[in-house]
Amino acid sequence: MTAKSDHRPATRLVEAGRRKEWTGSVVSPPVWRASTHLYEDSADLAKGRPNADGYFYYGRRGSPTQWSLAEALTELEPGAEGTVLYPSGVAAIAGALLAVLKSGDVLLMTDNAYEPSRAMAKSLLADFGVEVRFFEPLDLDAFPGAFCERTAAVLLESPGSLTMEVCDIPALAAMARDKGAVSLLDNTWASPLGFAALQHGCDVSIMSLTKHVGGHSDVMMGSAAAAGALYRKLRTKAQALGIVVSPDDAALALRGLRTMGVRLERSSASALKIAEWLAQRDEVAHVLCPMLAEAPGHALWKRDFDGGCGLFSFVLRGRDEAARARFVDSLELFGIGYSWGGFESLVVPFDAGRARTATAWPPARWRVEDCLGIRVSIGLEAAEDLMSDLDRAFAAMDGA
Ligand SMILES: *Cc1c(COP(=O)(O)O)cnc(C)c1O
Repeated sequence: MTAKSDHRPATRLVEAGRRKEWTGSVVSPPVWRASTHLYEDSADLAKGRPNADGYFYYGRRGSPTQWSLAEALTELEPGAEGTVLYPSGVAAIAGALLAVLKSGDVLLMTDNAYEPSRAMAKSLLADFGVEVRFFEPLDLDAFPGAFCERTAAVLLESPGSLTMEVCDIPALAAMARDKGAVSLLDNTWASPLGFAALQHGCDVSIMSLTKHVGGHSDVMMGSAAAAGALYRKLRTKAQALGIVVSPDDAALALRGLRTMGVRLERSSASALKIAEWLAQRDEVAHVLCPMLAEAPGHALWKRDFDGGCGLFSFVLRGRDEAARARFVDSLELFGIGYSWGGFESLVVPFDAGRARTATAWPPARWRVEDCLGIRVSIGLEAAEDLMSDLDRAFAAMDGA
């Protein structure tokens, strides 16, 4: 038989995590609802169990449903030796940072990070005596100067939340390693199918499984994958924090994972079509979509990524907030709401400038009146129907 790692990602998506001893004679592992795991006798109890997936011990260490999902994610992330599951993406980021940082350390965080990551670092990590400093991810020359003796970790994200700039992750991760810091990547946008984080030099690959993996807007979960001692550190820290995900949620995430590849192919193809269409519109000043040929960062995306997804942003040309609200409220196929990566399209207005501290947003080269952002998550609807919906909303925005 071919070694599992030789299979292409599409095949691994189908096969991964389906160990016979976990699935029995059905296709997917059943939902093992369990707190207590029973031992044969007192001698069996006294023998103990290795602290690794696959050994029944106690519910907090999971059961075959969770192990199957964790193993499937590990098999999808080249270079990973294990994956820890968390009850949300934010919990994964917090759990991974708590595992690699201690009091007195400095964390470097990319200025385009997901806003709750920023908030968590400034509250939770600050309370534990960790200092967070933000850096501009596109300024590679300035990056080495951001480090000090106490810098222990770097949190990266590419493309950045809302503003979607693709960063030179291999270069940033290599510099972090050079300086003795652990690099962690929030890889939610691309997933390991689109960006092999560990192969590109990152130490920890983090994902909100709520997005592409779940894929149906009905489950929240996060993951962090790594190799060797770092994986064991993530695991023991998560156990110390009492982190466990429910088997029902794990089963939902596993179900979503099996179709993630085809959903991503479809939603990224539609997103590219819609991004190209938006770029031609008078009402739109900038389209922030890494898959778009003229977008900044497109060359890095082409170089490093194997795929995209349905999430991108655009900026209205010279409209005010009331116009933006008319546009958003006139959409019929796009729900208004947070999160993304579901089968259904979503929209959310944003103001990226609010969160930034290392660099100003919008960029100085833009006209000041072009600043109101809209983020869209393209789902599985027909792209033509979504474009008609957007077209109608543009007309309504300008009072037609
Ligand atoms: C949504 C999101 C998260 C957080 O995930 P939750 O599962 O909602 O906690 C983290 N990073 C990015 C880039 C996200 O978009």
